[in-house]
Amino acid sequence: PGTAAAEAIRQVEQHAAHNYHPLPIVVATGDGAWVTDVEGRRYLDCLAAYSAVNFGHGHPLLVDAAKEQLDRVTLTSRAFHSDRLGPFVEELAALAGKDMVLPMNTGAEAVESGIKVARAWGYRVKGVPEGRATIIVADGNFHGRTTTIISFSDDASARDGFGPFTPGFVRVPYGDADALADALAAHPDTVAVLLEPIQGEAGIIVPPAEYLPRVRELCTEHEVLFIADEIQSGLGRTGATFACDLVGVVPDVYLLGKALGGGIVPVSAVVANREVLGVLHPGEHGSTFGGNPLAAAVGLAVVRMLATGEYQERAARLGEHLRLRLEELVGQGVVTVRGAGLWAGIDIDPELAMGRAVCELLMERGVLAKDTHGSTIRLAPPIVVEQHELDWAVDQLAEVLASL
Ligand code: PLP
Repeated sequence: PGTAAAEAIRQVEQHAAHNYHPLPIVVATGDGAWVTDVEGRRYLDCLAAYSAVNFGHGHPLLVDAAKEQLDRVTLTSRAFHSDRLGPFVEELAALAGKDMVLPMNTGAEAVESGIKVARAWGYRVKGVPEGRATIIVADGNFHGRTTTIISFSDDASARDGFGPFTPGFVRVPYGDADALADALAAHPDTVAVLLEPIQGEAGIIVPPAEYLPRVRELCTEHEVLFIADEIQSGLGRTGATFACDLVGVVPDVYLLGKALGGGIVPVSAVVANREVLGVLHPGEHGSTFGGNPLAAAVGLAVVRMLATGEYQERAARLGEHLRLRLEELVGQGVVTVRGAGLWAGIDIDPELAMGRAVCELLMERGVLAKDTHGSTIRLAPPIVVEQHELDWAVDQLAEVLASL
């Protein structure tokens, strides 16, 4: 890195907690699918901030919505109404085909809120004895970093050293509906099944096609809420509004985040019908920033962009092209390719290189991607990316693999 980059990296190394291991690139600006570093080098952003930048950097509709709101009012707290929250929750609920929205900020907060709502629903509606509510989750899950959420993670690096853990969770293998059926039978106090419809951090793991429909049936049969964590998979990424749509499944609760804030502000939400979200009463849950006017203005613009269907259609079309291009690399350094829409998990032959090394070589060629779990790399470019740019990125990957 040049002097400006080296100095920025030194400051972070010295004064920011080392809870990340970033690639040595210092971004100064972003535009659409591209970012530019402090030395003026351009990179195709194939991570899109873990899908928070689905609509690209600086999308004019989103930037305009934010700028306009900055000049009006940005924070009222929920002690008062704002004129932005109403339209946001009404249109987001409609996009999801539900009645109500609980607005929060980060993904982990939406997950925590979903857990609280499910427990309260279990006690107040289902009649589960107090203190007994159980939530079934999946092996390999990633739902965030709070103490309760890591309590049901099976990733040692997320958990070790951070106990004691929150009880009330049971983990079953992901993608195995029979295992879920057994767990539901064994735990009659179950209030919810919490799953990512496609597991993101685990390496873009797409379950068998019959899995989510069976999860839906089992949840209905056992009077249990199906909570779909669509924080990474939702809002256009997979070629549909929700990954659940791909298999015609409607969960009871959607957890949304990341792209809901348009890559501008943190916006997350729990979205469900009145029978579920209606269990919350004033004073039982809240957030100073949740549903703030700036967040609501940007979130509303995001919802309106998704309501056109344009981004979902584009992610499906470009995703199909990306999949075909990546499959050509199987046997050329790539072991497997998985994914849906514009979201790909690529397992690199671990004999050749670790994912991190591949990402460093891609960076040198102007492509930003992120490894996960050793030898897997994930590609999730902004949906505004052009097909020829995707082709160029895949060419860079092919050349990196050929050079190993
Ligand atoms: N749920 C899923 C499926 C995620 O992928 C993530 C983040 O990667 C989260 C929850 C947590 O979101 P946040 O980092 O905004 O707390």
